[in-house]
Amino acid sequence: MSCPRIEVDLAKIRRNTQTLVKRLGPRGIGVTGVTKAVCGHPAIAQAMLDGGAVGLADARISNVQKLRAVGMTGPITLIRTPMLSQADQVVLSCEASYNTEILVISALAAAAIRNGSVHGIVLMVEMGDQRDGILPENLKDIAQQVMQMSGVALKGIGTNFACLNGLAPTALQMAAFCDLANEIEGVCGPFLKIVSGGNSANLTWVLGEHATGRVNDLRLGEAILLGVEPVSGDRIDGMYTDAFTLVAEVIETGAKPPSIPIALIDPTRERLRIVTPSGACARMILAIGHQDTDILGLSMPTGNTLIGATSDHLVIGTPVTPPTVGSEVRFQMSYNALMRAMAAPDINVELMGYPPKRPSRHTQGKVQHLALV
Ligand SMILES: *Cc1c(COP(=O)(O)O)cnc(C)c1O
Repeated sequence: MSCPRIEVDLAKIRRNTQTLVKRLGPRGIGVTGVTKAVCGHPAIAQAMLDGGAVGLADARISNVQKLRAVGMTGPITLIRTPMLSQADQVVLSCEASYNTEILVISALAAAAIRNGSVHGIVLMVEMGDQRDGILPENLKDIAQQVMQMSGVALKGIGTNFACLNGLAPTALQMAAFCDLANEIEGVCGPFLKIVSGGNSANLTWVLGEHATGRVNDLRLGEAILLGVEPVSGDRIDGMYTDAFTLVAEVIETGAKPPSIPIALIDPTRERLRIVTPSGACARMILAIGHQDTDILGLSMPTGNTLIGATSDHLVIGTPVTPPTVGSEVRFQMSYNALMRAMAAPDINVELMGYPPKRPSRHTQGKVQHLALV
C-alpha cells in the first residue's frame, strides 16, 4: 500500500455512530453525521448512515456535491451559512441549510423558485460561541420574515458551541435555547421540525442528568470519527478512538551530532535551530510534513519524541534503534490533523473493516455500481 496513507476502519465509524444513536435515542435526539473533517468522503458518510445517523451535514458545498455525485439521495444539510454566490448550488444539492443572513435566505428563496423546489431553512442562533449566529433578540423577526417568503420553509433552529471560544454549553444556555424554540412556535405557528442543540461538545450536557428539553438533533463529527469529547479531549466511554490511522514511511535514519554549528551568524536561524532532546540519540525522518497534516496533532509512537517538522519532513527522536529505511510508522490523529490529512492531495485513503457492498449473484448482467470509494 502506498505512503503516506490514512487507513479508515469503516466498521469502527459505523459502531461509533451506533453507540451514540443508542445513547441519544431514548432522549429523543437524532444524530446528524457531519462529514466536513473527512471532506465529504462518501464511504465514511455511508458508514455513519449505516450506524443509524438520520442524515448528513457538511460545511462546504463541494463536499456535499461529492456525496451527491455517487448517488446519495438522503437529506444533506449545509451547516455553514451559504455564500451568496452559491445560492443556486446550495438549493440544488441540499435539502436545507443553516442561515444567519436574511439577504442570503432571500437569494436561496429566489434560487429555489427558479428550481421549482422549496429549500429548508434552519436559523442558527448565537448562544455564546460568538461565531455565526442570529442574536436571540432578532430571531423572532427573522423567523417571521422567512415564514412570509415563498421558496423557503422554516425547518427549525440550531445553535453551536465550543467552536470559536472552546467553551462547552451550560445547562442554562441550553435551557435558554429551548425557550427560544417555544417562543418561535408561539409567534410563527408551525411546529419546528429541527431543534439542533449543537455538535460533539454537547455530549457531556446531553448525556448528563438534566432534561434535554426541546433539543431533538445533534450534529456530530468529531465524536463519531475520533471517539472523543472535543472540549476535554477525553475518550467517550465505549467508543473507538482508532478508526483512523496515518501511516508514513521512513526515508532516513541515524543519529546527528547534537549541534551542527551554523555557519551563518543569522539570529533568526539561530532561534529556529532545533535541539535534539537529550537521551534521543537515534532519529528517523519520515516523508510527511506540515503540508500534509497538523504535525502537533499526531500521537508519537511510545518512546518516540517529536524533534521537528518542515513542509515535507517529519523528524522524530527514537531512544532505541530506529525502524529501517522504507518501513512504516503509524500515528493516531487529532481532529485538526485528521481534517488536514484528509484534504491533502498526496495522502491516500485506504478503506477497511467493512465488507464492501457487493451486488447479489441474482442481479448478474444488471449490476448496479455503488461507487462509494
Ligand atoms: C463542524 C460543525 C459541527 C460538527 O462538530 P464536531 O465537533 O465535529 O461534532 C456541527 N455544527 C456545525 C455548525 C459545525 O460547523
